Amino acid sequence: MSNGRGGIPNEVVEEIISRSDIVSVVGQYVQFTKSSGQNQFGLCPFHSEDTPSFSVSVNKQIYYCFGCHKGGNVVNFIMEIEHLSYIEALKFLAEKAGVTIPEPDDANYRKEEQLRKRLKQVLLEAARYYYKSFKSEKGEEARKYLQKRAITPSTATKFGLGYAPNEWSGLYNHLVSKGFTQQEIQKSGLFVTKNGKTFDLFRGRLMFPIFNAMGELIAFGGRIIGDGQPKYVNSPETPIYSKQRNLYALNFAKQAKMKRIIVVEGYMDVISMHQAGVTNAVASLGTALTERQLDLLERYCEEVVLFYDSDRAGQNAAVRGLKMLMERKKKHTGMTTQVRVAKVPNGKDPDEFIREFGKEEFAKVVEQAVPVLDYLVDSAHRQSMESGRFDAVVFQQLISTYLSWEDNMILRERAAYKAAQILGVSAQSVMSEVGKLSSQTHQEAITRSQKEVEKQTQILPERKSSETATRDELVLVCLLSALGSEYDKFVETYGDEPLETDFTMGSMRTIARQILPVLKEGKLDANRLLLAGDNLILNQRPAGATLSEALMSVKYGDDVNSLFAHTKDYLYRVRMNVYTKQKDMLAKRLDVMPEGPDRDATESLLRSTLLYLTELKKKMGKR
Ligand SMILES: [Zn+2]
Repeated sequence: MSNGRGGIPNEVVEEIISRSDIVSVVGQYVQFTKSSGQNQFGLCPFHSEDTPSFSVSVNKQIYYCFGCHKGGNVVNFIMEIEHLSYIEALKFLAEKAGVTIPEPDDANYRKEEQLRKRLKQVLLEAARYYYKSFKSEKGEEARKYLQKRAITPSTATKFGLGYAPNEWSGLYNHLVSKGFTQQEIQKSGLFVTKNGKTFDLFRGRLMFPIFNAMGELIAFGGRIIGDGQPKYVNSPETPIYSKQRNLYALNFAKQAKMKRIIVVEGYMDVISMHQAGVTNAVASLGTALTERQLDLLERYCEEVVLFYDSDRAGQNAAVRGLKMLMERKKKHTGMTTQVRVAKVPNGKDPDEFIREFGKEEFAKVVEQAVPVLDYLVDSAHRQSMESGRFDAVVFQQLISTYLSWEDNMILRERAAYKAAQILGVSAQSVMSEVGKLSSQTHQEAITRSQKEVEKQTQILPERKSSETATRDELVLVCLLSALGSEYDKFVETYGDEPLETDFTMGSMRTIARQILPVLKEGKLDANRLLLAGDNLILNQRPAGATLSEALMSVKYGDDVNSLFAHTKDYLYRVRMNVYTKQKDMLAKRLDVMPEGPDRDATESLLRSTLLYLTELKKKMGKR
């Protein structure tokens, strides 16, 4: 098997696509109200509209929206609508279509994958155990605690809350009785080993199951019932859990399909918020928001609003997290997700606030969230008041540091103005302090962005060259994709075939390079064509969208003969175009070229180009 994307063999990718009929897959999300020929029309799920401009082609197995210009094959559709990566979308479809994705042919990988599967089963069994204890007599204190926090039984069930009894080996004995091995038990993250003996990690705690974005149980958090330390204990890192890469309740929040996601610190905050109807809230699992977590959030929303606890520990974590955010903004200039910071009034937790004042008041607090730098100026003010009186030196130092993290001059000056008001000095003097610090960081930023550009061009060498295609080229590749197994007959009929050099340099030629071998095997179709455009830009849009549009609008003729004739016409038009451009370029060059061997060579090239063009014109005249 040839190796495809992300370790999934190409054969399997094709099987998944061919077994996932686009009409029935899209039909889960879109109601088709009209059909014309082979196309079904419905209201677009990606933009709001009153008349259907979203179409699905039954025979080409692609979709395209004439309103917002989104388009592609069934995998692209699932990526777009479920906010999944390419691999995740394939897995999603594979499951629905009943296709098994073989694991990479590596004994180690298979062993680890097997262990990960078993660990998930351990956690599920543990969740059942905690849930049973919660419902039993032992769980009375836990239930009372939730009642006190005004969490309803149905909310508790939705989040799968449980109770770990105050016993040393209750869960351990339970799992052994269920047949789990010592290795599986040890690696689950639910136990501690002391002096060769294994004990339950969570004892006398309210249990919060932690799910990944796909809804799989991967870890637990536990809160002590009553007094005692530490208040919260979480699963350590395990083969299936990394706290930096997950967000609590993201599996629920993503279903809200809102443009904004709210990030709070605690489990209880999230649960209260969901219960109050704020269903787009997640928690950062006891760390300041990490870069990985932000990557994850960017898939699901356009704006992130952060809430931090008002205690001092919370503030320090906040500042660390915010520095990361600002550095990240410098690295990703194309980043579209906005980040703002919100403060709950009167030093309350979001949980307390929403219970007391409700959803509407909370929405107002979210609306008042401020840009990151503004939040930092406030934070510097608070920190410089810690001794009980305002310490201008501390304030100035903090402000200089924070402002130097910001590259945008306008934002920086606005924040400097705010700081100057607090200090009672001019904004200019604040800026000159910042200048001393940031001349170094500015240089660092330049070096960093240079490296970034180099890295990008390495990954996407084609991005540097032309990203445009002519209308004729687009029509031609669509016609070629309709030839399928008739290709050999086409070549026989006209004694000619498309070449890489017929296409414009850049994206279009990259696509040609990939489809021509498939075409020769008689296996090119719309799907293969779209696959070739993956990750490329064509006419200012993702190539998939541009190609889908062309596939939807090209007329193929009624039978094989007219398809052949069309294809031949467009092949020669495209070729004509390329050679005409070459002719013009050579003529221009000759205008300024001195006598010599170079000029002779160019002249001879121009002559043969002209000759070829005459030949082409003759061929084009023939039917
Ligand atoms: Zn649309």
